[in-house]
Amino acid sequence: MLKTMYQSLVDLVFPHLCLSCGRDTIPNEDILCLSCAYELPKSKQHFYADNRFTDRFWGRINIHSAGAYMYFKKQGTAQKLMSKLKYQGHWQIGFELGRKYGKILTHAELFAGIDLIIPIPLHSSKLKTRGFNQSEVFARGLSEVMDIPNRSAWMKRIIKTPTQTTKTRMERFANVEHAFRITKPNQLKGKHILLVDDVLTTGATLEAAGKKILEIPGTKLSMACIAMAEHI
Ligand SMILES: [Zn+2]
Repeated sequence: MLKTMYQSLVDLVFPHLCLSCGRDTIPNEDILCLSCAYELPKSKQHFYADNRFTDRFWGRINIHSAGAYMYFKKQGTAQKLMSKLKYQGHWQIGFELGRKYGKILTHAELFAGIDLIIPIPLHSSKLKTRGFNQSEVFARGLSEVMDIPNRSAWMKRIIKTPTQTTKTRMERFANVEHAFRITKPNQLKGKHILLVDDVLTTGATLEAAGKKILEIPGTKLSMACIAMAEHI
């Protein structure tokens, strides 16, 4: 109660604006106004073992279950949010979307029995410039709501890969193939791991990191992303 009163006072002095439309004031801990939250192009992939996310990895890597919280369209709400998250330092977008998706995944049968969450790591030099890892804050949100440990230190990016956006599909795969290293392989034995990233495009990054996990005996691999590009 006290906290609510205090928060109302804070909201009065510092109006809390929607991070998508920048207009409406919103309840204390949320990031979106009701209409922007309603308009998010959410996916229902978590209900289906075979879906548009898993299709992208078909014949390449064995995935138990996978889903993206929303679809990513050019100029859409999802794109606006992702660009604020990645390039304007709004890390709380990743965290809150992790909490939102975590609530959904908690009730999705296909995502039951996950032991650990591991986010796709950034190379240390990139982490230094950006100040945070967008996949890691998403993982933290998921972890909090799903009550599953987030082990972000257990995978490292050992090669500094140039940006993927200007590369062809084949180049993207070659680019990240040897980029990752698992630091605690023994701790992953026999575990069901949820590997998470910000946006799924070709899947090259998730595939390379996922293969590293599956090299460890007895592991089971699932994946979750904030958004999935509809067209690549
Ligand atoms: Zn809004």
